[in-house]
Amino acid sequence: MARSVLVTGGNRGIGLSIARELAAAGDAVAVTYRSGEPPEGLFGVKCDVTSAEDVDLAFSKAEAEHGPVEVVIANAGVTRDTLLPLMKEETFTDVVDTNLTGSYRVAKRACRGMLRMRRGRIIFVSSVVALSGQAGQSNYAASKAGMIGFARSLAREFGSRGITVNVVAPGFVETDMTAALEPEQQQAILKNVPLGRAATAADIARVVKFLASDDAAYVTGAVVPVDGGLGMGH
Ligand code: NDP
Repeated sequence: MARSVLVTGGNRGIGLSIARELAAAGDAVAVTYRSGEPPEGLFGVKCDVTSAEDVDLAFSKAEAEHGPVEVVIANAGVTRDTLLPLMKEETFTDVVDTNLTGSYRVAKRACRGMLRMRRGRIIFVSSVVALSGQAGQSNYAASKAGMIGFARSLAREFGSRGITVNVVAPGFVETDMTAALEPEQQQAILKNVPLGRAATAADIARVVKFLASDDAAYVTGAVVPVDGGLGMGH
């Protein structure tokens, strides 16, 4: 039977690519979308990850359609870049609320069914900047670094229950998020990428597919860089 999968922020960018990759591999995929329309051909559930009620409802709808969620990808994320002296408190807390606390809400709701089934895969989409830091992204980097400690704690909590918990740390990926950067900023990052190019969303999705697969049954608590070498040494 097809596995029930839920991808947050699956209406565009990396999340959509992950959803399409897993659906093509035979999984029954639900994606959350916050604004606009759900993507063609995928089961969409409206959800803002800053709301525990929304997250609960999204899982309930996905479960009603596809059965208990066996694989969850906490992908929804935002940036609100600015240097610390100019950063308002809400600019910090809003980013943490979406990226880190949002991941907590998703994992907390997901683990219920997984613990009952005694199997599951939880995958968090962090970032290379979680470990390297990035000027102007202290809020974002803090939220993404927090995801690593959170994921590794869950890996320890759930290891005996057949649930793996892993993190992917993408580098520079061609999506709306990076299109918002100035061309000079994009060039400055890219010149430090040993592979000499930006990632496509599919580059990230294929690694997530591996972590969600049986082939990764003995991988948990891992932080897997998918960054063309950008973060080497961290
Ligand atoms: P995009 O900006 O293209 O897409 C972000 C996705 O997250 C959208 O689906 C968006 O929904 C959703 N989202 C944002 N806020 C919320 C919220 N409060 N509730 C629910 N959904 C929300 O980003 P990417 O595809 O580039 O990024 C996906 C993930 O990968 C993020 O976590 C990002 O931090 C991470 N990442 C990206 C990198 C890159 O270079 N692009 C590098 C490293 C990590 P909506 O369409 O409604 O806004």
